[in-house]
Amino acid sequence: MPKVGLFWFNHDLRTDDNAALLRAAAEVDTLICLYCVDTATVWPGSQQPAKLSPRRREFLLESLQDLEAQLNRYGQKLVVRMQSPLDAIAQLITVHNVSHLYRSKHVGAYENSIWQTLRTRYSLLDFSESHTHTLFEPSQLPCTLDQLPATFSEFRRLVEKSDLSRVIAAPLAAPTALPAPALVADLAWQTQWNECLPNNSDSPALFKGGAHAGEQHLRDYFARDLASHYKETRNGLDGMDYSTKFSPWLANGTLSVRRIVQQLRQYEARAGTNESTQWIFVELLWREYFQWYGHKYPQRLFAFAGIGQHTPTTSFYPERFKKWSVGNTPYAIINACMKQLNATGYLSNRGRQLVASCFVHELGLDWRHGARYMEQQLIDYDVAANWGNWQYLAGVGADPRGQRHFDLQKQAQIYDPDKQFVKRWAGDQTLLPLDSVDAVGWPI
Ligand SMILES: Cc1cc2nc3c(=O)[nH]c(=O)nc-3n(C[C@H](O)[C@H](O)[C@H](O)COP(=O)(O)OP(=O)(O)OC[C@H]3O[C@@H](n4cnc5c(N)ncnc54)[C@H](O)[C@@H]3O)c2cc1C
Repeated sequence: MPKVGLFWFNHDLRTDDNAALLRAAAEVDTLICLYCVDTATVWPGSQQPAKLSPRRREFLLESLQDLEAQLNRYGQKLVVRMQSPLDAIAQLITVHNVSHLYRSKHVGAYENSIWQTLRTRYSLLDFSESHTHTLFEPSQLPCTLDQLPATFSEFRRLVEKSDLSRVIAAPLAAPTALPAPALVADLAWQTQWNECLPNNSDSPALFKGGAHAGEQHLRDYFARDLASHYKETRNGLDGMDYSTKFSPWLANGTLSVRRIVQQLRQYEARAGTNESTQWIFVELLWREYFQWYGHKYPQRLFAFAGIGQHTPTTSFYPERFKKWSVGNTPYAIINACMKQLNATGYLSNRGRQLVASCFVHELGLDWRHGARYMEQQLIDYDVAANWGNWQYLAGVGADPRGQRHFDLQKQAQIYDPDKQFVKRWAGDQTLLPLDSVDAVGWPI
């Protein structure tokens, strides 16, 4: 009986350093390479992925086209289905007698519930998962997942104490060959995509999706001396060079994090190690921490009270939410950030901190709606990094200080002293009061 494999691509849209794909390549005779876009999901739903903004759709489409080209070079095909992965996978299992299923480990509640349902429903099939999104394997962590520290600084201390940067495995080479494709009906996915998910962005994108573009960006970044100044520039608000901009490709796995670390080490060997190059590694450790945090708290990552016991006193005010999301608040710096996010699908780390702090503290809004909005907009949306950072900012996550309330006026003076950023994104042209109903006029 020939072994028929199904590889469910998710946030691992590459052939390079993909342990899950290598395993499939070694084990089965024919292979179905599948990606699903669940176009039926609605915004805002709870456990379902958010609807993708035009920028996210565009970046994902380019990433899939690039993956398809990579697979074609192996004589393989990419099967893309515009339906729930549960339905698509169930149909393919039945029609093609699939015996082996593969995927990369995922933090997402939606992805995991589908995988779990499949495992229960098809308990006689072979299910296999590999870690392709992290620097470490669970067995390499300085503690068990249960004992993952409640703060990043403690996690970093443990990593540094056990000199774990030495055990980061070298990235794996792409497979030399892939099993032949199963004869899956070709549904002309790109035509379907254009019908279901039209691309209506009206300005050129900052980022091009796909492993090819990601690898090019990685080479270009380290071909210059930007990494040697990263620590001084990393709090910038606008432009391509103040930070690495690895996140969009890292998030959907078109770039492997271990490939980035390998390039960082090669840069250090050439240009020297300094505080800035070390800081890039620290930031990648933040990412690593949030990945394991997501694995440790698969449900609480999305809970209002976060990983703590106390439910915040914030609520949901539709008018305030709307004004925040389009950049019509009384705060010029926030408006500029939100307009930048909506136009480009990207926002600096400083900008994200400011808009999240404003959302929770000035606007009194339930942080989960902010996280959900960023899920919809960010081309670098990453389940663990997004929800983990929002929890942190909302004071219900891995922050020893309890909460981060930024003084927006002071922050604007420090990071945008000549108001160039605010002017560029017209943040000062849409200043509106938070509420159209004045509380003073309310009956007592
Ligand atoms: C409210 C909020 C939401 C966020 N949502 C996301 C998200 O959905 N996806 C995402 O990748 N990052 C998220 N971040 C983290 C951070 O803002 C971005 O990773 C960073 O701005 C990406 O730009 P860069 O690649 O140039 O980062 P750099 O400053 O160059 O950092 C290098 C890499 O380190 C990692 N990194 C840096 N800071 C963080 C951090 N605080 N948490 C986790 N990883 C980090 C990223 O992988 C990044 O690519 C969020 C931060 C906040 C405050």
